[in-house]
Amino acid sequence: AKNQGRSRYSYFSPSMQEAAQARMRLVNDLRGAVAGDQFCVHYQPIVQLATGAIHKAEALIRWQHPVRGLVNPAEFIPIAEDTGMIVDIGNWVFREAARQAARWRALHHAEFQISVNKSPVQFHRVGHDYAAWLAYLQELGLPGQNVVVEITEGLLMDNSSAVTGQLLAFRDAGIQVALDDFGTGYSALSYLQKFDIDYLKIDRAFVHDLAPDSSNTALCEAIIVMAHKLGIKVVAEGVETEQQRSLLAAAGCDYGQGYLFSRPVPADEFEALLQLSP
Ligand code: C2E
Ligand code: CA
Ligand code: CA
Ligand code: CA
Repeated sequence: AKNQGRSRYSYFSPSMQEAAQARMRLVNDLRGAVAGDQFCVHYQPIVQLATGAIHKAEALIRWQHPVRGLVNPAEFIPIAEDTGMIVDIGNWVFREAARQAARWRALHHAEFQISVNKSPVQFHRVGHDYAAWLAYLQELGLPGQNVVVEITEGLLMDNSSAVTGQLLAFRDAGIQVALDDFGTGYSALSYLQKFDIDYLKIDRAFVHDLAPDSSNTALCEAIIVMAHKLGIKVVAEGVETEQQRSLLAAAGCDYGQGYLFSRPVPADEFEALLQLSP
C-alpha cells in the first residue's frame, strides 16, 4: 500500500493523522471565516419565570461554513481559543450584539440586557483591548447596565491582575457579570461574593434531571436560596419541559433559558419574540 513505509515509522497513527489534518483544515477555514463574513449572532431569550417576560437575551455565535454548513461553536470555539483567533471573533460578537441591544433597548425596554460570552483566553490574550469595548458602548450610547458578560468558574480562581483589572473596569462601567455553567467546575462559594457576581447560571446538566423530590431539585433549590442571600439572581439553563419550568419557578428561580421558550434565533426573529413579550 502506498504509505506503508512512511506510516510504519510515523509518530502518528493514520487516524491521528487524519484528525490532525481535519483540525488544520478547520484552523485554515476559521481564518477565512474571520476575514470573510461567515459569522452571525443568534439570540436566545432569557425569560422571567414569574411573568414570562423577555427582557434579556444571550448572544451565541454561529458559523456558516461555505461547504460544511452550520458549524457548532463547541467544535470551533476551542480552536479559536487555542489559536488566539477568539480575540477578534469575540470582539466582533461583542460589537454586533451591543449594536442590536442598543436597538432593542430603544425599541422595547430600557432595561433590556444582552449577555455576551467571554472566554478566559480573551481576558489574557495581549491585544485584547477591553477599553475598546467600553468605548464602543459609549459610541452606541448603550449604558453598561444593559450588558452582561458571561464568564466561567475557572476564571474566578485566576487571581492575575489582568483578570481582576478587567472585571473591575467592567464593574465601574456598570456592566454586569454572570457566572456561566454553574455547578460544573469547582469554584468556592466565596468567589461569588469576592467578585460581586450578578447572575448565576445553573448548568443545564442539573436542570435536565429535575424531577419532583429528586436530589437535583433539592440541589437547585439550595443554590437558589444561597444565591438570593448573596444578592445574586439565578438563571436556569437548558429548560426544555414544562415540568422543569414549573419546578424551577416553584423553587424561586428568577429566569429560565432553553428550548421550551425558544432556540437561539436570528436577530429579526428575536425581535418578533420581543414584540410578543408581556
Ligand atoms: P453556553 O454559553 O453554555 O451557551 C448555552 C448553550 O446551550 C448554547 O449552545 C445553546 O444553544 C444551548 N441551549 C440553549 N437552550 C438549550 C436547551 O434547552 N437544551 C439544550 N440541549 N441546549 C440548549 P451553543 O450555541 O451551541 O454554544 C455552545 C457554547 O459555545 C456556549 O455554551 C459557549 O460556551 C460557546 N459560545 C457560543 N457563542 C460564543 C461566543 O460568542 N463567544 C465565546 N467565547 N463562546 C461562545
Ligand atoms: Ca453562556
Ligand atoms: Ca452555559
Ligand atoms: Ca452584585
